[in-house]
Amino acid sequence: TTAQIGVTGLAVMGRNLARNFARNGYTVAVHNRTASRTRALVEEFGNEGDFIATETAKEFVAALERPRRLVIMVKAGDPTDAVIQEFAPLLEPGDMIIDGGNAHFADTRRRERELREQGIHFVGTGISGGEEGALNGPSIMPGGSKESYDSLGPMLEKISAKAADGAPCVTHVGPDGAGHFVKMVHNGIEYADMQLIGEAYQLLRDVAGYAPARIAEIFRTWNTGRLDSYLIEITAEVLSHVDAATGEPFVDVVADQAEQKGTGRWTVQIALDLGVPVSGIAEAVFARSLSGHVALREASRGLAGPKASPLGEAEAAAFADRVEQALYASKIVSYTQGFHEVAAGSEEYGWDIDLGAVSAIWRGGCIIRAAFLDRIRAAYDARADLPSLLSDETFAREIADAQDDWREVLVAATRQGVPTPGFAAALAYYDALRAERLPAALTQGQRDFFGAHTYRRTDRDGAFHTLWGGDRSEVTA
Ligand code: NDP
Repeated sequence: TTAQIGVTGLAVMGRNLARNFARNGYTVAVHNRTASRTRALVEEFGNEGDFIATETAKEFVAALERPRRLVIMVKAGDPTDAVIQEFAPLLEPGDMIIDGGNAHFADTRRRERELREQGIHFVGTGISGGEEGALNGPSIMPGGSKESYDSLGPMLEKISAKAADGAPCVTHVGPDGAGHFVKMVHNGIEYADMQLIGEAYQLLRDVAGYAPARIAEIFRTWNTGRLDSYLIEITAEVLSHVDAATGEPFVDVVADQAEQKGTGRWTVQIALDLGVPVSGIAEAVFARSLSGHVALREASRGLAGPKASPLGEAEAAAFADRVEQALYASKIVSYTQGFHEVAAGSEEYGWDIDLGAVSAIWRGGCIIRAAFLDRIRAAYDARADLPSLLSDETFAREIADAQDDWREVLVAATRQGVPTPGFAAALAYYDALRAERLPAALTQGQRDFFGAHTYRRTDRDGAFHTLWGGDRSEVTA
């Protein structure tokens, strides 16, 4: 027998992905650098489907039907290159290497180019949903050639998550690194969502004066409305959890220093390169960094500022409703920024990414899955060349309805000294976009003053320079 697919790298992700393929009726060749993991997988889960356990690279490759489909699920970075170098010489033109790790899309572009010379399809594939998703259905974001998707697509569709309407959460995102790029931005949006939820929580805690269990109830209610999403759902779970050792709310005994693995940072780094303002995602990444600067925080504890004084019962309930509006409006802005980055990457690298299709495959399986994504898809379906999500009539109207509350929440946060960088960045972005005039005109004047960088005028074409050190007359540059 030959295997339709092979998985090498059998840590949590690879092992669950292999089981997912097997449970869906595929014969799966499995391989891992350390063979004991391969044996353990087959011993524990061999009854779930057809596995072919292999120990050497040669055996593994020989077990695969041609053209071969070989999934790599190893630690991203150098290990991925090491594994490619091990297997590529054993492959033939037409074979496919699918990298399901969290690779940087620039690495994926390089690997794709190198392997293309050998006639091998390299399919950099974003996989979201953690270990649970890998086993029961992740959201899958494959890049690579169209030809590879023709062969792989049906299998990926089978093992992927399904959205509420039954659609598989996978699409051919675009050539070479498009899949990993989109996965990266997905993670950036995830950071922003989490930060906004964190700010909402802190406001309900400090300004509304609610205890975590009560806030959990509020999140549960929100989860039945337009904020319905996996992240809101698990937020309620975390907030209602009580620490067994102390009897305190779990959230009060966890060290408040957020960690990160790097995809959020990449999203911001690439956005800087592309010149895309993803201020909400950037604030989310910085908020995590700030939380980890323990010494700096200790040293700053005595700094002056207001102490939050909780509202009375009736006002608190009204405030909680406002926070929902602020959270929703800010969320629209962070998705607007994230989709702008996807569009800019697509433009820069010639990927021709369908933004509606991307929002559709995030509806299930992944961490940012949410009812909201249906709405984004509808917006792009209605108008594929939508310049920004904020140009969609429905979103624009919702923000219009939310904005008074959004501003009030920020006023309260500022007055009471509760940090809300995500809400604030989102509102600043919104106000900047709608502004008639921006102080960028002044910036241009300053640049021309100190560096003769020139400026354009509103009334005439061309580049101009003012002789600042002389008679201040204007010359054509
Ligand atoms: P790890 O990232 O912890 O990687 C461990 C696996 O990599 C093991 O199979 C290990 O083999 C193998 N490996 C490491 N170095 C080498 C090498 N030089 N040569 C060959 N094999 C090597 O595993 P995860 O399952 O957590 O993640 C796998 C990939 O999936 C990563 O790229 C990760 O970023 C990505 N991912 C993870 C998610 C998650 O929720 N964990 C979600 C989405 C993607 P050995 O057993 O011999 O040490």
